[in-house]
Order: sequence, then structure tokens, then C-alpha cells
Amino acid sequence: MFSSSAFQSHFFQNRTIYLKRDDLLHPDFSGNKARKFYYFLTHEFPHIKRVVSSGSNQSNAMYSLSILARLKGWEFIYVCDHVPSFLRENPIGNYKAALENGIRLIESSNREAVLLEFIDEHSLHVSEGGRQSEAEEGIKRLADELKVDVQKAGLKEPYLFLPSGTGTTALFLQKHLPFPVFYM
Ligand SMILES: *Cc1c(COP(=O)(O)O)cnc(C)c1O
Repeated sequence: MFSSSAFQSHFFQNRTIYLKRDDLLHPDFSGNKARKFYYFLTHEFPHIKRVVSSGSNQSNAMYSLSILARLKGWEFIYVCDHVPSFLRENPIGNYKAALENGIRLIESSNREAVLLEFIDEHSLHVSEGGRQSEAEEGIKRLADELKVDVQKAGLKEPYLFLPSGTGTTALFLQKHLPFPVFYM
């Protein structure tokens, strides 16, 4: 599906750092969410008609799932606590883009109850932020790319730094990399 993302060197504060440009993976589907949802993108799910998830009204995971659903022809049901009126009246960011991709957004203070209404044999339930074991497949691919990148660049004792939310990306990267992973 994706070819390996670029690995670029930059001189910054008197040292060379390297950036893994997962933001350039795909025009619509990029960053660590493309890695986390790689499994869903690249396998066939003939019985699935909708994807069901929940989380915040501006999340990257929500946006990426709206792309996944569009690419797969699935309905996308997403439950969030609250959409403030300023956002509903002036949509911006991931919220706006997800609406354009056909998200069906349901506001509820009882997310679990709403999710249960929609989870059946035709739905794929994706945990908040993509925190689930299926994420390992795509993140292992990222680790495999990084091993090649690091070797080609001739880096002897690399350290990897990444931002973290659920910690899923950091967990699976560390599982598949021989060098230390730091996350914040
Ligand atoms: C989702 C996301 C994270 C968090 O990733 P986790 O695997 O949940 O730790 C960090 N940075 C960006 C830009 C994200 O979109």
C-alpha cells in the first residue's frame, strides 16, 4: 500500500537529527494513524459495513478513520461527548474534514451505551485512538523501515523520540526495534 517514508537529516542546535517523514506517507492517510490502521486498510473485511469508534471531536484518529471508511466504502459512526456550538457553527480542522468524509457523529455523555447500539457482526469497532493489537502490523512495518534507514545512514547508537498519546505506537516500536525508544 505505502512505500517507505523518507528519512531526512537536519542540522539543528549543533547536531544532526533525523526525521522519519510519516507525515508524507499518503496525501489523505498519514502519520502514525496510517501505521496504526494499516491492518484495516490492507485486509479484506467482506462482512463489514461500518466502522464504529469514539473519542474527542478533533482527534487525528477520528480524521484517519473517516478516510479509511471512505476508502473502504463503510459507514463511519463516531461517538463523542460534546461538540461545542462554536465548532458546530464554524467547523475547522479534523472535525470539518471528518464531516466532509461523511462521518456520522453522535454526541452522548454515555458513549459506551451508544457504541453498544451499533456494534454487531457487520461493524468493526476501533478503540479510542486506535489502541489495539491490530496496530502492531503497521507499526512493525515502521520499525522495519527504521532499521533499514538507520543502517543506511550509518548511525551507530540511535535514539528514537516520538510524541505519545495512548502509547500504542511507542509500545510496538520498542517491541520491534533494537535501540531505545523515548516518548513524551
Ligand atoms: C495519535 C497521535 C499520537 C499518539 O499516538 P499513540 O500511538 O496513541 O501514542 C501522537 N502524535 C500524533 C501527531 C498523533 O496523531
